[in-house]
This record gives sequence, structure tokens and C-alpha cells, in this order.
Amino acid sequence: MENSPSRSHRSQPGGRLDPYVDRYAARTAGMTASEIRALFAVASRPEVVSLAGGMPNISGLPLDVVGGAISELVATEGPVAMQYGSGQGVPELREQITDVMRLEGIEAHADDVVVTVGSQQAVDLVTRVFCDPGDVVVCEAPSYVGALGVFKGYQCDVVHAEMDADGLVPEALRQAIRATKAAGKTIKFLYTIPNYHNPAGVTLAAERRPEILEICRSEGILILEDNPYGLLGFDREPMRALRADEAEGVIYLGSFSKTFAPGFRVGWALAPPSVREKLVLAQESATLCPPQFSQMAISAYLSKHDWQGQIKQFREMYRERRDAMVSALEDMMPAACRWNVPDGGFYVWLTLPPGINAKAMLPRAVTARVAYVPGTAFFADGYGSSAMRLSYCYPTPERIREGVRRLASVIEAEMELHATFGTDTASMPAIRGKDYDAPGTDVF
Ligand code: PMP
Repeated sequence: MENSPSRSHRSQPGGRLDPYVDRYAARTAGMTASEIRALFAVASRPEVVSLAGGMPNISGLPLDVVGGAISELVATEGPVAMQYGSGQGVPELREQITDVMRLEGIEAHADDVVVTVGSQQAVDLVTRVFCDPGDVVVCEAPSYVGALGVFKGYQCDVVHAEMDADGLVPEALRQAIRATKAAGKTIKFLYTIPNYHNPAGVTLAAERRPEILEICRSEGILILEDNPYGLLGFDREPMRALRADEAEGVIYLGSFSKTFAPGFRVGWALAPPSVREKLVLAQESATLCPPQFSQMAISAYLSKHDWQGQIKQFREMYRERRDAMVSALEDMMPAACRWNVPDGGFYVWLTLPPGINAKAMLPRAVTARVAYVPGTAFFADGYGSSAMRLSYCYPTPERIREGVRRLASVIEAEMELHATFGTDTASMPAIRGKDYDAPGTDVF
């Protein structure tokens, strides 16, 4: 029978029947929810300390100032603010965005800025403009889970290149390029997060930047520089952006999500003029225009408020949380665990002792009321099972310490299990080679 359940009604992981499963486009095969998604529903309960979520901590925002700016906007420019706008974005905001980027050494023209619905949409639009199925995007290992989801959705192949404490390793990039060429595939761009990496917490060293630019220039590879955390360094002035030294070969992405508030959903792409025109066309077909109201509200906030002072406060707040996490890790983690000490951003990358699998351990951690994101979420090829991302951005320092205490005892118990039974869960075939874990927006 045409619509018999056995033919077209397949059950989904959640147990529901999906009558349309046979009709979806091939590209949706990459849009998969993983089993860890369900665990994150539990992880958002108040009794669980979530070191998983990458939510910016906006409790310090001056709500009275923002509220005042918004009511003034409605009173004075309401009919414009609530109307459709330009596909490229509000000109005044684009001008202000060039001021923001100047802090990282970028001299740009507002005409080359395209406002997007968060930088997430910019990743999507750039991929839509450049990538056909089977094209290669080179990404750091590990890389941002939300970008990997986009690349999968457009049926790209992700090739990872190693990082170390100084960020992307130039020789690893060369190797990834050589291997991809040898396989007869086309690299469309390098996707890189140079500052306070999500999830690895590392920053591309200043002396490596010219080398990365030179490799990409000589190979004719475009760079997609994703930089939502660049102004959130704890101990230094913002690093010079890759885009500051290369205007033609770099598309730079920025966002107000981490330096102001993610709910407005405003980010941007700065692109060479030819690419910028395509991005505007892609933007128009995706959304007609980015949200006019949000853009005008942010523009008012930037012009009326000491936004740089606010960023300084954010940096201090995140530094306090970083300190809380690092000192708790030092005090409580088993000696065989390794982690880095980030000097900005939201994340610590922790490597577990040999034989301990972060994904297999997660249900036990959630039962012990602590959550993290297993490393596999950040690789397109199933790697990362011995690592995890810990976020310190959201919980209070006390909760962070409590979370680390719970996590340390879960890891200790896991080590005992491993010592007793000797099973190396990291080598189980069900875990290696699986799709990356798309855990849901709350952990991005
Ligand atoms: N890129 C990176 C590296 C991120 O960490 C995030 C958010 N976590 C984004 C892009 C998307 O941010 P938004 O869309 O809110 O600007």
C-alpha cells in the first residue's frame, strides 16, 4: 500500500512516526539529532550544574539603559524600526560595525559589511554561496559545533587540521591541503576561529598569523575568519584580525551576541565586494532583510552607551569564572586529566585519562548532576571521544566549583571501572566514526 507504515512511516529517535521521511531532500541526511540531545533536556534542570551551555552571561547588562533606548526608538522611529529594511542591513549600524572592527586593526568600508541574523547565519550564507555537495571545508580539530552542522547541511566534507596551544598548526594546514588535493577534491575555504576558540579555548599566536595567511594566499584558499570572542580577552588588547592584513582573501564574521546580547540576533560578515553582493542576494532570499528593529536597537545602544566599558565588565566577569574553573580543576581533577588555561572567551578543553570515554560517561555525569559537552560534538569524523568542552561563562563561581567537584568524582569512578574491567570505551566501534553530535542550540 502507498502509505503503509512499513514503507514510509519510520520511527524517529524520539519514538514518533515521521510520514515524510522518504520525501526529504538528500541534504537533510546531515541534519541529525544525537542521543546526547535528550540528555541536555535533563541538564537544563536547576539541580544540574551545566558546564555544557555556551550561553553568554548577560546578567550585567544595564537593562534600564537598554530599555530606555528601546522605548525612545519606538517613540521616535517606531514606524521605520518596525518596517522591512535593506537586505544588507541598516547603514548607520554598518558604519558602527566598522568602528568595532577597528579595535582589531581592520580598516573597512561600511559598504562591504552585510548584517546577518547572528554570525551563525553568516556561516550559513557563506557556505550557501560557495559550497556544492562534496566540496571540502578545512576546519580546526576540534571546531565549532554550529558551523559543522551548517557544513553538513550543505553536504560538504569537513577535513580537520590539528591545533596546539598556539592554535591552528601551519604544517597541519599544509598537510590537510595536500591530502585533499591528492584525493581530487576542492577546498572552498578554511573555517577558523582564531581567538578564544570554541571549543578548544586557544588563540592563534600572532607569529603564526602571517604564515596561515601566506599558505592560503599561495594555495588560493579563501579564509572564513569567525571571531565572536575576539574582544573578550582577559589579559591583553584585542589580537590583530587575519582580515586586517588580507582584505581580498578573508571573509570576516563578527557578532554582538557575546559583547552585547544574543537575543537580538545580530552579527555580520565583512567580505570583498564581489562576494558581498552574492551574500546580500543570499540574505534576501533567506530572510528578505535582517531584523530592522534589532539593528536599530543595537545602533542606539552603541551610540548612547559606553559599550566598550560594558565589554570590559564582561571580560572581568568571565575572567573571574575562568579563574574559578581553573583553580577547581587544579584542586580536584585526577592527575591524569589535562586541560588548557584559556586567556579569553568561554571554554576549557579537557582531555580525559586514557580509556575513559566522555560520551559514554555523560549519562553518569548527568545522574551526578553535572553536564558537559563530549568532544565528539566538535569533530565531523567521530574523533574527540576522550575529550570534553567545559564552559565557565554562565554559572556562578561557586556553582562552577561544585560542578567541577561532581565531575571529578564521576571521572574517578569511571577510572576505577576502567581499572577493574579494562574496557576501553573510547575504542568501541559504535563511538568511533559516528556522525558528529548535534546537541541543540543551548550548548552552542
Ligand atoms: N561562531 C562561534 C565560534 C560561536 O561560538 C557562535 C555561538 N556560540 C557563533 C558563531 C554564532 O553566534 P551568533 O549567531 O549568536 O552570532
